[in-house]
Amino acid sequence: EGLARFQNYPIVDFTIAEERAAYPEAIARLRSSLGKKIPLYINGKDVETSDMLDSYNPANPEEVIGSVCQAGVGEVDDAVEAASKAYLTWRDVSPAERAEVLLKAAQYLKDNIHDLCAVQILEVGKQWEQAQADIGEAIDFMEYYAREMIRLGKPRRMGHAPGEMSHLFYQGKGVAAVIAPWNFPLAISVGMVSAAIVSGCPVVYKPAGISSCVGHGLVKMWKAAGLPDGVFNYCPGRGAVVGDHLVDHPDVAVIAFTGSMEVGLRIQERAAKVQPGQQQCKKVIAEMGGKNATIIDDDADLDEAVLGVLYSAFGFQGQKCSACSRVIVLDAIYDRFVERLTEAAKSVKLGPAENPANYMGPVVDRAAQENVLRYVKIAEEEGQLLVKLEASADLRATGGCYVPLTIVEKIAKDHRIAQEEVFGPILAVMRAGDMDEALDIANSTRFALTGAIYTRSPAHLERAANEFRVGNLYLNKPSVGAMVERHAFGGFKMSGVGSKSGGPDYLLQFLDPRLVCENT
Ligand code: GLU
Repeated sequence: EGLARFQNYPIVDFTIAEERAAYPEAIARLRSSLGKKIPLYINGKDVETSDMLDSYNPANPEEVIGSVCQAGVGEVDDAVEAASKAYLTWRDVSPAERAEVLLKAAQYLKDNIHDLCAVQILEVGKQWEQAQADIGEAIDFMEYYAREMIRLGKPRRMGHAPGEMSHLFYQGKGVAAVIAPWNFPLAISVGMVSAAIVSGCPVVYKPAGISSCVGHGLVKMWKAAGLPDGVFNYCPGRGAVVGDHLVDHPDVAVIAFTGSMEVGLRIQERAAKVQPGQQQCKKVIAEMGGKNATIIDDDADLDEAVLGVLYSAFGFQGQKCSACSRVIVLDAIYDRFVERLTEAAKSVKLGPAENPANYMGPVVDRAAQENVLRYVKIAEEEGQLLVKLEASADLRATGGCYVPLTIVEKIAKDHRIAQEEVFGPILAVMRAGDMDEALDIANSTRFALTGAIYTRSPAHLERAANEFRVGNLYLNKPSVGAMVERHAFGGFKMSGVGSKSGGPDYLLQFLDPRLVCENT
């Protein structure tokens, strides 16, 4: 109440000297305390385990960022039990009070933004400005969901029949298991977790193994915000050991997941099975993959289009579900566009994200590196290589998880590189005779997450808006970088179930509506 209208947190301004200086300082501060043991956090207490997982810097795998305690099934049970108990009181805390905790948490992020950036620059290899954008998005999620809960928290008068008074209101569904990805390690974690918490659902949070140090930031954040014990539980653990156990747990009511299609589908299947003692149907929210296309029309502004495609395809090494992995180019402009794209790509500088001169860094870990290299081979076999920009021999000698920036042409709809999500810096160029064909190619995968088109033709913009069937379509702008509210985010088909994060329907997924009617 009395809150100012929601506004996105501003993007970083590197023309300010203090802003430029703050990053190396924060990285140096972090370096002076690396490699600490990171405990679980259950029911308001730190919990240590004997199984540990080291999280390392992908640019230098010998640099351990933190040694993270791993939950076993016993700790997961403890966390679910703590959350279940907390639910009994947290669900009845007023929406305004729950919202207040999110606003305090957002303030904590604002106050610590550079230190938080440093963790993800070293732990997952995010470039400076993208790390800042990730924290900014986390702030936005909480500022937005706080306001959303206040909006939804007012009981709604239903109908106007004489002799009765009828109200509809919402209650949190119960314990939420949040299974988070590593690529937007703070933003997507905070988004899912804060949505659950503000809705009245205590959380068992399992961060991705390779971004668990960033994930531990949520413990400090909720402590600073004064969240009651048991409402947030930090429970990193190996997927193979605790993943199914958490999803199958009879006392989990909601599962919020962001990650691969394979894991998302597995979660949906398992969550559908009722376990002994289970009291409610589980709700699954799953944000999964993409195979996103950008269409380049024959009248496109190439200055914009080349930079837009470059950033969408290779920003953060293409490790975004929103990344452009197919560029569909109209015949008439094909040669000109491809030549300019190729030139621009060849000028990309590769190296560690902690140096802001580098446009592209290593991928997130060894497994990701192997996977991308496998797909580089597939791309080379299926198409014709345009660019394969390798990291220098010196860089490779550091042992960093580098993969080449790769662009191939002569890719057709049915090629694997046109159908399978790689999650790395590989771009397939596809040729289209006209807009009909371009749209047909764009829609020819099982995914429907993001898309973009560069054109000057109002008629083609309108056609794309109607016929380019994806969750988030961008006209004359890149397909990545969704902002809370303005670009409420999420797709359909095999890209996910549930409604858009950072949008007006998101919280409803954590809520059960109740109606009370009084005979007056
Ligand atoms: N929301 C992000 C974007 O628009 C992508 C999220 C993801 O990769 O999971 O770029």
